[in-house]
Amino acid sequence: MAFCMLIRWMDRFVLLEKVVKMKQIPFSIKNRQELHDCIEKVQQEARALKNLSCVLVSIFMDTANERMLQEMKHTINASFPEAQIVGSVSRGEIVNGTLVEHDIVVNFTLFECSKVRVMSYDFRMMSSEQAGKELLAILNADKEVAAVEVISAGFHLDVNPFFHEVSKSRQEIVFFGGLADDGSLGQNGMVFAQNTTLRHGVAVAVFSGSKLHVQASSSFGWKPLGRSMTVTKMDGEFCLKELDGMPALKVFERYLGIVNNDKFLVEALTFPFYFERNGTVLARHPRRCREDGGVMFGADFRVGEKVRLAYGDPSDIIENAMVLQENLANFRPEAIFMVSCVARWMLLGSDTEQELSVTRHLAPSSGFYAYGEFMRNDAGEIMVSNMTLVTIGMREGRGSSTKKSFKVEHPKFKPHRTIMAHLVHFIETTTQELEETNAKLTKLAQIDRLTEVLNRGETELRLAAMLSQSQLSGQPMAVLMLDIDDFKGINDNFGHEMGDKVIGAVADILRAVTRTDEDAPGRWGGDEFLVAFQDMAAQEGREVAEQIRKEVAALDFLPEGRKVTVSIGLATAAEDDTTNALCRRVDMALYEAKRSSGKNTVVMH
Ligand code: GH3
Ligand code: MG
Repeated sequence: MAFCMLIRWMDRFVLLEKVVKMKQIPFSIKNRQELHDCIEKVQQEARALKNLSCVLVSIFMDTANERMLQEMKHTINASFPEAQIVGSVSRGEIVNGTLVEHDIVVNFTLFECSKVRVMSYDFRMMSSEQAGKELLAILNADKEVAAVEVISAGFHLDVNPFFHEVSKSRQEIVFFGGLADDGSLGQNGMVFAQNTTLRHGVAVAVFSGSKLHVQASSSFGWKPLGRSMTVTKMDGEFCLKELDGMPALKVFERYLGIVNNDKFLVEALTFPFYFERNGTVLARHPRRCREDGGVMFGADFRVGEKVRLAYGDPSDIIENAMVLQENLANFRPEAIFMVSCVARWMLLGSDTEQELSVTRHLAPSSGFYAYGEFMRNDAGEIMVSNMTLVTIGMREGRGSSTKKSFKVEHPKFKPHRTIMAHLVHFIETTTQELEETNAKLTKLAQIDRLTEVLNRGETELRLAAMLSQSQLSGQPMAVLMLDIDDFKGINDNFGHEMGDKVIGAVADILRAVTRTDEDAPGRWGGDEFLVAFQDMAAQEGREVAEQIRKEVAALDFLPEGRKVTVSIGLATAAEDDTTNALCRRVDMALYEAKRSSGKNTVVMH
């Protein structure tokens, strides 16, 4: 009975949730007069809502015309005095899945029960970190925050400390936005929130409400090309100085034939660096080149990160964006916010329409083209990427009960695009083949052919690496040296082939008793093996050595019931050990096992 009542109560709750419905009404206008007409339409829509809890007005304009902006705000406030107004100057704007240039996009989002608050942080007045702390306090104080939009202005703005602080907020909060600019690379960038305009800071919109649902999706589509390179030198966080010890500019010259002249930015823009950080694929495209061969980027790299050049194949990029369509359709949004990268537009040209079309038919959409897109990864970290198309679906309540279905329009490419696609495919395949060959050669250079454990050279390298790691971490390590007893006799009595088989069988036992990632079993030479055990103290080392000795003694494939035995020397690493000293001790232990202890035994030093 109580269960039935609960179900009925839940039904009512669901129904209640269902009736809540936000609205998004974007316009593309040329002047203030057109804004009056738009506002009339918005007022009609607003009257149709059961309740109007908040009006958010997002404005993206092609030039930093502050007077025009003030007039527009005045007009909006005359009808919607409480409206929250946020936006920026941008290079390109998006309205209902279409790119508009040289227009002003004014997007009205009407909420029935959610709230939006806009604010701004001037990075000339406070540090990036301090701004992050202030926003974090706001987010922590409101348990109903569902999403945060951040729009930044200023090409040299360091948003990393800001995002580092804000990343401490609840992980469910969706972050989106980007670096907005009119294309003059920072000279005329501007963001605004209510009556504040900033040229070096961020404008923020905080969306909150218990019935507000938000979904972020992103599409990348660039493909890695060529070999992976390690970041070996940075100058600050944004200037990439060297990759594998080679000046960053040389990488562009050598692999792409792109030199440092006035076309550098345009030519290098579609070849970003591609890498993964905490499971998220990120891209960085260069901003400019320095005299010293360093290349400036709009977002950070970290020394040690492995990057590859990437190329955008238009057909793949658009196919990739199509995946967003399905995600969004399942979410049943009532409003869509979009942030895409200027470099996508530059590469796709007129095909841009096709990738933007993923949101058409689903819900009204509005957004802008950015020079860096903001995203939050699964670990909660907010990051800057490039070359990404981000879509944010929003709805109040449960949304429509029927999923909107429509036919996906597949891209029709111009012939040169198809040639490009084949060339990229060719490069990808040859790169993959080279990598596979490299991996095989590397393995051949490390492995002993007869036993397939490590060879002498590789064993020495691993031993040295493990010793320094153990001395750094303070973890113990053990080293074992093993020599087959009277092996010459096996060769003499049963032939060299049988001798090989015995060596192989001992190697199999070593492989079986060692841990794949931690230990390094290797053939030291002839019938002698060395095994380095990571994070292993003396007692455990002795137990493993005994186990090896016993398992070898149990081998029973030699004719005439003959047995194989081994002698084992064991030593553990000391704090100030060198590989030579450690090897000498373990060698002496083995010598003692052979000479004083009568073989088939373990001696520890
Ligand atoms: P001890 O108990 O003192 O170790 O005596 P031992 O007879 O095992 O002497 P030692 O370890 O010095 O003998 C190693 C022999 O192993 C010498 C060499 O002919 C043989 N040998 C080295 N490499 C191989 C190989 O790859 N295959 C075979 N079958 N024999 C090898
Ligand atoms: Mg021997």
